[in-house]
Amino acid sequence: MLQFANYMAMDEAEQFDSAKLARYARQMMLDRIGESGQRRLLKATVAIVGCGGLGSTIGQILARAGVGTLVLCDSDEVEIENLHRQILYDERDVGRSKAVAAAARLLSINSQVKMHARPMRVDAENAAELFESSDLVVDATDNLASRYVLNAAAVRLKRDWIYGGCVGWEGTVMVVRSGTGGACLECVFGPPEPSDPATGGRFPISPATPVVVGSIEAHEVLRYLLDPAANKPCGSRYVCINLEHPRVRSNDGVPNNPACRACGGGKNLKSEI
Ligand SMILES: [Zn+2]
Repeated sequence: MLQFANYMAMDEAEQFDSAKLARYARQMMLDRIGESGQRRLLKATVAIVGCGGLGSTIGQILARAGVGTLVLCDSDEVEIENLHRQILYDERDVGRSKAVAAAARLLSINSQVKMHARPMRVDAENAAELFESSDLVVDATDNLASRYVLNAAAVRLKRDWIYGGCVGWEGTVMVVRSGTGGACLECVFGPPEPSDPATGGRFPISPATPVVVGSIEAHEVLRYLLDPAANKPCGSRYVCINLEHPRVRSNDGVPNNPACRACGGGKNLKSEI
């Protein structure tokens, strides 16, 4: 811990730097973080695609952890039926842009973090721009179509990203290592299927599920940003969790599907690595 005499001996810039780090003292006690890891987090940019149940939790954890810049993407407005699970918002936010309301709330949690509100729906063009302008893209959308858009951009650009999805009482998080030839989303879930118009995009969801699944995603983001070897070849991995009958399944080496249209079973990725 910093002693007062040492603090007074610092010049103004050093004092500012020390004060900036003070709020992260408890996480800097972790071996994996320390001061060097914290500085790494403060320099990082993460794009969170979706500011609903998953994005609320991911945004809070990353803002509190001091990830330096967060890009918050969502084209929707806050609705009253969102409030049971989207923990960034309250009744005053109903009718506001989720991206704008999320940025304001996260700034009130940590004013050291830069927030970029992007009220937009992800498409092929802006997905590429998100990958190119951030260190990591994390999926917090609520529909498969957007995830396949992210997957296609990640395969094309050979970039890693983090997928997260949940419904009811269960969810899955996958660290998709397209940057180093790992299995892509389509390797695991197959080609995209048309959405069911009967559901209108509404599905049952427990308020606890996106908090748990979003927390796992946020943890994977921190783990990725903190690992200096993040760009070395490494397989994709997933974690599945069921809260109704509590159990966790995981796989640290998800195999590529040789018949995958998106990544060619990894060949399209590995050939140029
Ligand atoms: Zn694939």
